[in-house]
This record gives sequence, structure tokens and C-alpha cells, in this order.
Amino acid sequence: MEEALFLTRYARQVTIVHRRSTFRASPILVEKVQQHPSIRFVLENDVVDVLGDDAVEGICIRNTRTGALSQLPVQGVFLAIGHHPNTDLFRGEVQLDDEGYILPVERTMTSIAGVFAAGDVADPYYRQAITAAADGARAAMDARRWLEQHQIEKREPEQETAGSVR
Ligand SMILES: Cc1cc2nc3c(=O)[nH]c(=O)nc-3n(C[C@H](O)[C@H](O)[C@H](O)COP(=O)(O)OP(=O)(O)OC[C@H]3O[C@@H](n4cnc5c(N)ncnc54)[C@H](O)[C@@H]3O)c2cc1C
Repeated sequence: MEEALFLTRYARQVTIVHRRSTFRASPILVEKVQQHPSIRFVLENDVVDVLGDDAVEGICIRNTRTGALSQLPVQGVFLAIGHHPNTDLFRGEVQLDDEGYILPVERTMTSIAGVFAAGDVADPYYRQAITAAADGARAAMDARRWLEQHQIEKREPEQETAGSVR
């Protein structure tokens, strides 16, 4: 629902293709989307193919109840199915939960001492701009305190002397 609303800033018409007739999103959000003049729904359908050679010209959809195939002319396709945190980079490094979110060990600190996580990568629930920004502030404070506790001080840049080589 959020992605569809976001796309209305750029597209004249947004079509939500959804495999079921009901949604898991909050009723208020669903109502807002349903009332949006630029958004329409194609329910109980799966997208089975994207059509077009050099550019998207349409999609092929399949009715999930009858199996009937049909085509829908569209100029772009955006996938928004579930959530997958972008943490593959950290897999095998810091501890992740079953869904791939970074697990905090102590406040914002990860399973590696001195490595801190903030925002959507460590938040399976809120995932909002303001909560991510607040997490960033918390992580920065935790990092500063950790550096102080470990007596790691800010290093001054080396003085340049005539003829010095860097
Ligand atoms: C369509 C949509 C609509 C939304 N609408 C709202 C809204 O209305 N209100 C709201 O509060 N929130 C909204 N959100 C959620 C909000 O955008 C996020 O919660 C917020 O951006 C999370 O901030 P973040 O810093 O954790 O992650 P991000 O903003 O995703 O920042 C992560 C950064 O890391 C970078 N990155 C990724 N991989 C690497 C790498 N390997 N190396 C270096 N950099 C990398 C990315 O390029 C990106 O800049 C929306 C999200 C979406 C997708």
C-alpha cells in the first residue's frame, strides 16, 4: 500500500495486482489507497510475465481462482512483495535473526563489539524514516560511549612537514 501511494507521485495511474481479495496492511492504509483517484486494483491475480522487447509494454496476469490468462497494458512494473532487509552483506559477520534483521546484543551494538546497527536493517517492526533517524542518533551515542570506555581517542591528522611523503 505504501509503495503504491509513493508511486502516485510519479505515475498518472498505478495498478495494484494482488493474488488475494484481502490485504494484510492496516485498514486505514487500505482505505486511503482505495480512495486514491490514481490507484486501481486488479485482485485475485498473479503476474506471470512482463511483456515488451526493449521496454515494458504490459503484463500477463493469471486469475488465481479460474486460472484464466489476460493482458494488462502498463509502462512499468514495480515489485513490492513482503520485506527483505538488505543485510546479506553482513551474513556470517554479525548475528542476524531468522528474517535477516541484525540482532542487537546490547542497545544498538551488534554481536561484534564496536559495530553498531541502526535503521531498517535492525528494525523488523517500525521501519519509518523518523525511527531510523532516531536509531542513528542512538547508535552514534552508543559508538561514542564505546570509544570512550575503550579509551580510543580521536587521532589528530599527522602534521605535514616539508618533503613528507604520504
Ligand atoms: C516506497 C516507500 C515509502 C515509504 N514511505 C515512508 C513514509 O511516508 N514515512 C516514513 O517515515 N517512512 C517511509 N518509508 C520508510 C523509510 O524510507 C525507511 O524507514 C528509511 O529510509 C530507513 O532508513 P535507513 O537509513 O535505515 O535505510 P535507507 O534509507 O534504506 O538507507 C540505506 C542506505 O544504505 C545504502 N546501501 C545499501 N547497500 C549498501 C552497500 N553495500 N554499501 C554502501 N551503502 C549501501 C543505500 O544506498 C541507502 O542509501 C518508506 C519506504 C518505502 C520503500
